[in-house]
Amino acid sequence: MMTKNVDGQAIRARVAVVGSINMDMVAHSTRLPAPGETLAGEAFVMAPGGKGANQAVAAARLGAAVDFVARVGMRQYGPELLQALQIEGIACEAVMRDAKALPGIAVIMVASKGGENAIVYIPGSNADLSAADVAAAAPTLRGAGVVVAQLEVPMGAIQAAFELARGAGSITVLNAAPAQELPEALLGLTDWLVLNETEASQLSGVPMGIADDTREQARRAAQILLKRGVKQVLVTLGSDGALLCTADLDQHFPARAVIAVDTVGAGDTLVGGLVAGLAEGLTSADAVCLGQAAAAIAVSRSGVQSAMPQRAELGAEFA
Ligand code: ADP
Repeated sequence: MMTKNVDGQAIRARVAVVGSINMDMVAHSTRLPAPGETLAGEAFVMAPGGKGANQAVAAARLGAAVDFVARVGMRQYGPELLQALQIEGIACEAVMRDAKALPGIAVIMVASKGGENAIVYIPGSNADLSAADVAAAAPTLRGAGVVVAQLEVPMGAIQAAFELARGAGSITVLNAAPAQELPEALLGLTDWLVLNETEASQLSGVPMGIADDTREQARRAAQILLKRGVKQVLVTLGSDGALLCTADLDQHFPARAVIAVDTVGAGDTLVGGLVAGLAEGLTSADAVCLGQAAAAIAVSRSGVQSAMPQRAELGAEFA
């Protein structure tokens, strides 16, 4: 993907993220309340989230030039959410602003003992992103070397974005989270399908995590998904790293050994690193390693976007 300018200097391709943006409201208490119970909590944190925004932030911190393609309701927290992206240097020209709508909100309860959580997610304006909005962002999408989407915005918008990307010869990356059934047409437009164990199991029907042999199960799940038209599948396996599968070969990438403090957002950091690496022209393997290195740092700190590393933190290997 790396092209050269007239002086022979490398120009990085841009990354377009088509996805969701939310305000996360997180209440921490020792345990989750029972239905009907009022429980005194320990702490409350409000922070920007949404898989699209998270991946955009991860990629930007790792050095990618990022465009965000989304729909944001400007009531309540909308302006604050957009400002947070702009502070990260993410271009928001292709974000549709909706004066009358509410942005997405996630109300999250986390139990400090055992780490269990419960979430109510209100999609807000994320649910309104349409194929027509994506068509209006066509110049941005055609100008990107890598286009990445997740499943928190309507499937029609994602498909329209991938059609434009394919037409322009860009790399398409679909993070199938949260898992839902995928149309064959979309799979046929997908160069990289990235998903965790649970999502791989749900989409392939292969039970996972039951025996010790998770990698073999991931391999079987990936082969089923490859037969549906995707070019390569990356199954993330938490602390066991990730498995990259194509029709002919598969490669396991061990995760970096870290003390995990908070694994929420690990997948988003990995995807952000992967697409940043692909936009730089790294090989598939090196782009996965970049994503894994970033995700390992993110899980060693608490928070989601606040835990995502800057490129310099990854060390000399990724300078
Ligand atoms: P998700 O957050 O989507 O559930 P995973 O839990 O599979 O995704 O994590 C994504 C990636 O984050 C993994 O492939 C790995 O690189 C990294 N990761 C997750 N948990 C750990 C951990 N405990 N130690 C080191 N790296 C981790």
